[in-house]
Amino acid sequence: MTRYHARAALLLFGMLYLTACSGSDPQGSRPVSVIVLVPDGGGVAHWTLAQFAAEAMGEELAVREMPVAGLVHTRGWDHEVTGSAAAATALATGTRTFVGAVGVGPDILPRTSSLQVAHERGWATGLVTTAWVTDATPAAFSAHVPDRSQMVEIFRQMTDLPVDVILGGGQSIFQRAFVQDSMDLRPGIEESYDYVESPEDLTRAAGGGGARVLGLFAPGSMPRVSARTPSLVEMTGAALQILERDPDGFFLLVENEGVDTEFHANAERHIVEAEMLDLDAAVRVALDFREEHPGTLVLVVADHETGGVTLSNDDNRDIVLGYSTGYHTAAFVPLFAVGPGAERFGGILDNDEVGRILKELVGAAP
Ligand SMILES: [Zn+2]
Repeated sequence: MTRYHARAALLLFGMLYLTACSGSDPQGSRPVSVIVLVPDGGGVAHWTLAQFAAEAMGEELAVREMPVAGLVHTRGWDHEVTGSAAAATALATGTRTFVGAVGVGPDILPRTSSLQVAHERGWATGLVTTAWVTDATPAAFSAHVPDRSQMVEIFRQMTDLPVDVILGGGQSIFQRAFVQDSMDLRPGIEESYDYVESPEDLTRAAGGGGARVLGLFAPGSMPRVSARTPSLVEMTGAALQILERDPDGFFLLVENEGVDTEFHANAERHIVEAEMLDLDAAVRVALDFREEHPGTLVLVVADHETGGVTLSNDDNRDIVLGYSTGYHTAAFVPLFAVGPGAERFGGILDNDEVGRILKELVGAAP
């Protein structure tokens, strides 16, 4: 054996050893439950605004307690500036796809999501959003259609899976199904779910011991944070209360669509800050839950940046909030993680990589 060969052999041995070690993760690095929180459209400047808003109130952002931070490259399969459905599909399934696609790849074939992997493992699953429950982000985790506008089909797939807890807006889905397919979906839903439309009924259903709750609290998207009932925090708490009854574990997705909506509208500073802080308050609920259940992985990640937000200055050196677009941009978005497997999300990651790691962690859970 030449000296070169000896070195090569040593290197190969070292690589095999490392591979073997990373393949046999200690139990502690596998989550027993997963909570993913999405500020839809929330980029670096958005979190910076939230930081200033929290500071002004003498408070700390919950995400600052999360030790792992990363940046996510959000481009799509065939485009640089992505859409919510393609971006959510990358995060949910680990596959980059075309704009408008929900849970399918560029070949229009279905891709399994981390929520579905969790379901197959026997975990309970939940979707919480301030948008229609059939909107792009929750849809990508629970349905497979080539076009995000197929909301009735998305609703059918997520309730057929079934996702155990579904909370958000979109009561009009029943009318849509009736107009489109002459089908009344309500009897079937009321058979398989505890169906609620008010915060009081949600509290009752969450405390009632049932395993399956569908709550639709507005005809379409839920209103701004100031008028939203139940609040995102209340919906997140109720979902956790129901899901944690499953001894096998659970997967919960929580989204504040209000961030995206208000940045699309180029809204005033206090309005967009309130939506970011609302998502951060839901993160606080997740972190409090984690205190009691340290096997929980909490991941906060946006699908893309919205608004092309700039934070320039006026004569007093105070922030002037500016927008370069009413749509999305290609800017990196921040990611925060804590819990078993969190360290794998550090650094700069492609959005489909985030999705693949998440799926792997759910699939490898003890
Ligand atoms: Zn979005």
